[in-house]
Amino acid sequence: MNAPSFRAPRGTFDLVSPRGEAMLAVRDALAAPLRSAGYGYVETPSFEETALFARGVGESTDIVTKEMYSFTTRGGDDVTLRPEGTAPVLRAVLENNLHRGALPLKLWYSGSYYRYERPQKGRYRHFSQVGAEVVGTEDPASDAELIVLAVDGYRALGLTGVRVLVNTIGSNESRPAYRAALQEYLRGLDLDEETARRVEINPLRVLDDKRPEIQKSLAEAPLITDFLGPSDRAHHDTVRALLTAAGVEFEDDPRLVRGLDYYTRTLFEFVHDGLGSQSAVGGGGRYDGLAEVIGGPSLPGVGFGLGADRTLLAMEAEGLPLPGRTGVDVFAVPLGAEAASWAFALVTSLRREGVAADLATGGRGLKGAMKAADRSGAKYAVVVGERDLDEGVAQVKDLATGEQQAVSVNGLVTHLKRLV
Ligand code: AMP
Repeated sequence: MNAPSFRAPRGTFDLVSPRGEAMLAVRDALAAPLRSAGYGYVETPSFEETALFARGVGESTDIVTKEMYSFTTRGGDDVTLRPEGTAPVLRAVLENNLHRGALPLKLWYSGSYYRYERPQKGRYRHFSQVGAEVVGTEDPASDAELIVLAVDGYRALGLTGVRVLVNTIGSNESRPAYRAALQEYLRGLDLDEETARRVEINPLRVLDDKRPEIQKSLAEAPLITDFLGPSDRAHHDTVRALLTAAGVEFEDDPRLVRGLDYYTRTLFEFVHDGLGSQSAVGGGGRYDGLAEVIGGPSLPGVGFGLGADRTLLAMEAEGLPLPGRTGVDVFAVPLGAEAASWAFALVTSLRREGVAADLATGGRGLKGAMKAADRSGAKYAVVVGERDLDEGVAQVKDLATGEQQAVSVNGLVTHLKRLV
């Protein structure tokens, strides 16, 4: 009988070398600016109580109504694989009383997220994000800082095609009047039932409807920018001025809204035009009301989630080489049993000295072992047979030029360290 053949679930995929290493390098590069700006690392479980997301992300959002992996545990708890990172991190802040210490809190994280979306290029059911949150301040400098740090991460990877879109959706000072004006405008349009319902529940989200006919009918819709009160406007202007001072180019996009309910004031998105319809490589914004929504005190915050999968796709779209190290610098080729134990000790010493090294195993002959050496990506092979050992030397071969040199085994590790 044949064994059953298994495949990764629909909408998910395996990352095998060299894309595996590339993904690690992307996450590291996106996190590096955060770490050098004093953000502390936080790790939360990959599932949470379902109600956290229902309340935090918003009962009427696509994420909550259509995209969550929710289930009841054997113990009867309703839990959901996290579809996003902000609500869990804020939950952790409140639970661990971090907000009672020095503020603002600056936190970063990296991990897997899950959404039951229709899979397509750049849209998966399991994806990876690097995220950051600044909690406990309304200062627009934090909004600007996050945007700058994300841009620096994309830049460090060599990306040149990431555009920065910035908007504000105002606070309670401005949004009620805008919401009413937008609603009035939208009610005057000929909309399908579902969209008409959305107009009543969350009219701002209609602005995000990608259908061309809807976009066309939104041409004359009122813009938030015309409804901003003085403090919302000042906040937004400061964010923009700080970005300009930091040399970050951005585009004002007064129609930018995002699919999560918790945002207030600043919204931003990073888009790449080489990605087709799933063009957002990251996004975020301010969420001054979220802590209260999930049962905490009033605690302002701002954050982002950067999509590592799409960042890697964007690099490929720009023709950048895959980042990340694969392979080793030195590959040992022992000929015979005695040489095999010697080579094992050699690569152990090399690795402990910080030289990436590997060796041929399984008693391979010279030809097969040299092939393995080439495949390993090593610059140097150390070929050693019983006779070499008797003479106290090993043959160091430059795999690019083919040049070979006998080197005393005593000084070999130092010699190789110098070479690589
Ligand atoms: P969001 O919170 O939905 O704006 O997500 C933040 C970022 O995560 C997006 O800009 C994408 O880069 C990435 N992302 C979100 N959903 C997916 C998905 N289903 N597949 C791949 N990446 C995603």
